[in-house]
Amino acid sequence: MSVAQAARHNGKADAAAEFDAIVIGAGVSGLYQLYKLRELGLKVRVFETGTGIGGTWYWNRYPGARFDSESYSYGYSFSPELLEEWNWAERFAPQPETERYLNYVADKFDLRRDIQFNSRVAAAHYQEETRRWNITLEDGRRYGTRFLITAIGVLSAPTMPRIPGVETFRGQSCHTHYWPKEPVEFAGKRVAVIGTGATAIQAITEIAKTAGHLTVFQRTPNWAAPLHNAKIADEEMREIRGSYPEIFAICNDSPGCFIHKPDPRATHEVTQEEREAFWEKLYAEPGFGIWQGNFRDILTDRAANALISEFVARKIRQRVKDPAMAEKLIPKNHGFGTRRVPLESGYYEVYNQPNVGLVDINETPIERVTPKGIKTSDAEYEFDLIIYATGFDAITGSFDRIDIRGIDGVALKDKWQNGPQTYLGVLVEGFPNLLMVMGPHAGLGNFPRAAEYSVDWVTGLIRFAHDRGVTRVEATATGVAEWTEHVLVTGEGLLMNEIDSWMTGVNRNVEGKQTRKIMRYSGGHPAFREHCDAVAADAYRKLALA
Ligand code: NAP
Repeated sequence: MSVAQAARHNGKADAAAEFDAIVIGAGVSGLYQLYKLRELGLKVRVFETGTGIGGTWYWNRYPGARFDSESYSYGYSFSPELLEEWNWAERFAPQPETERYLNYVADKFDLRRDIQFNSRVAAAHYQEETRRWNITLEDGRRYGTRFLITAIGVLSAPTMPRIPGVETFRGQSCHTHYWPKEPVEFAGKRVAVIGTGATAIQAITEIAKTAGHLTVFQRTPNWAAPLHNAKIADEEMREIRGSYPEIFAICNDSPGCFIHKPDPRATHEVTQEEREAFWEKLYAEPGFGIWQGNFRDILTDRAANALISEFVARKIRQRVKDPAMAEKLIPKNHGFGTRRVPLESGYYEVYNQPNVGLVDINETPIERVTPKGIKTSDAEYEFDLIIYATGFDAITGSFDRIDIRGIDGVALKDKWQNGPQTYLGVLVEGFPNLLMVMGPHAGLGNFPRAAEYSVDWVTGLIRFAHDRGVTRVEATATGVAEWTEHVLVTGEGLLMNEIDSWMTGVNRNVEGKQTRKIMRYSGGHPAFREHCDAVAADAYRKLALA
């Protein structure tokens, strides 16, 4: 939209711009939310910043981007027809395949006609007189809605490092989230990657295959484990298709909605030989088994965690030829699994290649980005390309970027200054008719599995309100206090909550996000669903309905 058009739109709202429900985001959860709200016969509009479907899988098209969840556990489960039609080509689908899948879903269910692309929501203000939300897009266009549903994901607000001189670099540079649609060539180029999280680990492994020279700038190494990806043959896909009910049942029954469930044994209940054999097996198997299917106490018992960390450290030492390099790649400030475990496909072997170097920026901090490259405390590196794999302002960051105001103009950002306060991760007191799909203090995990439930619950509440002429739904102060307390209590004793990471709300590049907070529900999805189902079964009496 041109500036002139934007100016014409500015401040204007017409009847055609009034909706029963507005959904922000056309990713995995927004698409399904649209489908469900249409079933209720509501007038719905989805606003999406991008120019296409897919959310995370639209934006993050960096080399190597793919699932760490098994593809067949990641697809939607709501449509038997869709399950019947779609063939996954790889056990862990790469970004292009997932983007294709989500576009296929959008086309199959004719979702596009209610999705407005190129539309970033800048503000959402609640009006008590009308019990409706006023929505303003970045370009000034305005809309109104009874229900506002956020489907904005947990990792969608990318953050750049606070390093001086970033804007002075004369070569090509990019945050992995904003990767261009056109192919980027690395052959013969001097490439820098800043960051060593899940994104960087995938990108580095891929880029190292062709880059002239790749320099990785590492602040904190992570514990990565093998992905063991493979193609899915036709016969295997037929078997998968026949097993979908069991696959989804296992996911539903597991704490993180993965097909991997914790082993009921404790680490010290078995002999050292049994332990080693079990860990060798997990390390050789595809996916998150080593993290999500390990002994039940590896993420709560320090001694158990130290043992599995030592096991994985040994693997790194075996795979990286230079012992000094291996030590740099082994985390020393957190145990295995206490941050999200990146899965890798030859990441450690990359550091045996002559075209790859590692700069530990704890030893030699980055001082600035220069027109030619990166200057650390002891050297100046020249690059053609700098890649920022520096992560996200997670969980609340995408909310903070929208001016969301509830009753009396209170800003959600201010309300959550000391950490999120929600009811079931869906509702916020003082923000009637705002419903968050996969909001803060809901459970994380295998995203689509959890998101499908979240969408179904939100839809159930809207259906209930719609059928009874209820025009205002809000969390109560007591409900929020109880849920927040419950979230804090279930987080106690988890080693993860003692470590800085996006999961504990720490992002050193964002003002005010330097201290750890409890950001997610860690009581497991079965328990989460029990809580939410009970509230629905009790006719939502725990909410304030009017
Ligand atoms: P991340 O895990 O937060 O990693 C960001 C990296 O950038 C960290 O290594 C961080 O170092 C580094 N960094 C940030 N600011 C820096 C600075 N100023 N100087 C130097 N280094 C800096 O982000 P991510 O890798 O994008 O992954 C986020 C999450 O997205 C993952 O945990 C995962 O849940 C999801 N993801 C999933 C997949 C998948 O399904 N396969 C793939 C990619 C991502 P510090 O650790 O020291 O802060």
